[in-house]
Amino acid sequence: MATQITTGTSELRDITKMERIGAHSHIRGLGLDDRLEPRENSQGMVGQAKARKAAGMILKMVQEGRIAGRAMLFAGPPSTGKTAIALGMAQTLGPDVPFTMIAASEVFSLSMSKTEALTQAFRRSIGVRIKEETEIIEGEVVEIQIDRSLTGATKTGKLTIKTTDMETIYDLGNKMIDALSKEKVTAGDVISIDKTSGKVTKLGRSFARSRDYDAMGADTKFVQCPEGEIQKRKEVVHTVSLHEIDVINSRTQGFLALFAGDTGEIKPELRNQINAKVAEWREEGKAEIIPGVLFIDEVHMLDIECFSFLNRALENELAPLVIMASNRGVARIRGTNLHSPHGLPPDLLDRVLIVSTQPYTSDDIKYIIKIRCEEEDVTLTESALDILTRLAADTTLRYVLNLISCAQMLARKRKAEAVEDTDIRRAYSYFFDEKRSVQWIKEQQHRLVSEEGVDFEAGSR
Ligand code: ATP
Repeated sequence: MATQITTGTSELRDITKMERIGAHSHIRGLGLDDRLEPRENSQGMVGQAKARKAAGMILKMVQEGRIAGRAMLFAGPPSTGKTAIALGMAQTLGPDVPFTMIAASEVFSLSMSKTEALTQAFRRSIGVRIKEETEIIEGEVVEIQIDRSLTGATKTGKLTIKTTDMETIYDLGNKMIDALSKEKVTAGDVISIDKTSGKVTKLGRSFARSRDYDAMGADTKFVQCPEGEIQKRKEVVHTVSLHEIDVINSRTQGFLALFAGDTGEIKPELRNQINAKVAEWREEGKAEIIPGVLFIDEVHMLDIECFSFLNRALENELAPLVIMASNRGVARIRGTNLHSPHGLPPDLLDRVLIVSTQPYTSDDIKYIIKIRCEEEDVTLTESALDILTRLAADTTLRYVLNLISCAQMLARKRKAEAVEDTDIRRAYSYFFDEKRSVQWIKEQQHRLVSEEGVDFEAGSR
């Protein structure tokens, strides 16, 4: 078992997350103003005002550290922006707050148990902001920063000394603060401090240039205080996730596993050891916990064991905000014969804040299509835009957004600058939306190979 807990690097990226963001690359936030009111069209977001406002309120609570271990559910028809809003939340939180995105079906893998996969997702979503002191190299100029809220000193200054001895540095720092608080010195002064008595003598600003410091004797230290902040020690702050600390410290996996993405199972003893170490760092003021966000898309795909795990995990002190999304109405809870709203068991439903997303108006749809065209660098004629807008009402927004790039390819083949009605029509004829696909299967049913037990009439969703 590793005894030295290390933290590795924060430069690592979640590859799956990056891939999925493509369709949402135009989303840059929730598009809210300072009072959390949704702007009509801002940061790539259009419409869905209530859900965006609700998401903004939750975010505010996350930022104030008041909502760790809570859960919310975005419930609404397909393509109504559940994922887009969750990503808008991630953008608003910024890069320092971990945001993990998984589709519920990813939890079912052969390489690890369901609960291990969920545990990893939870721990990816908890950040540890670590303050590390760097080593001081012989002869280096060290800046000393004193926390003035502790000493009550009212003035600031900068202290530059040449030493590698930390004790001397702290000692000098304290004396410096003392002198500053007694208004003996001001920024820019050069002072000497007697090492034994702590007596501070002001030497005047020209001293540094005119005298040889060593000539003053071994018991005197010289401190220069130019303008600026006092700095205590060289501190490097970085944020890593609990999962990254787990992997880096796991003997069997090691640091490189983070790049391969295949981290395998991690022993519970190691996790306990890491939790204890992080608690120790927190107590010593070396680390701070940043509860992040875990987004579980298609949450109805989890089964009853996963749901009971979620219920328990949310009680944990180190739990992130869990955001779930589902486009199901009443559905079977996987692993049981029971039906319930959104396919979630009642006890879990009871503890989540539910936010519903509504179908878009045609104005909203038109705007979203326009934004996507800008994002994909596609020029659309007004009439092609109208066709796509009407088509979205009859199919889905996502289908229409997918057609944009196909139609652009067809326009390019015609050597045309802009996508016109004809390109849309042809793209529509090449690629089916769900409704037409179902219709086609019905017509061709006798020719297709079908799986036994599949109730076709029940539909594909
Ligand atoms: P599903 O239930 O099928 O997973 P969803 O509700 O998660 O659907 P999204 O994937 O978020 O739907 O939306 C479909 C597409 O429409 C995405 O490309 C998304 O970025 C875009 N979109 C949805 N809502 C908005 C919005 N309010 N503003 C801008 N773009 C949006």
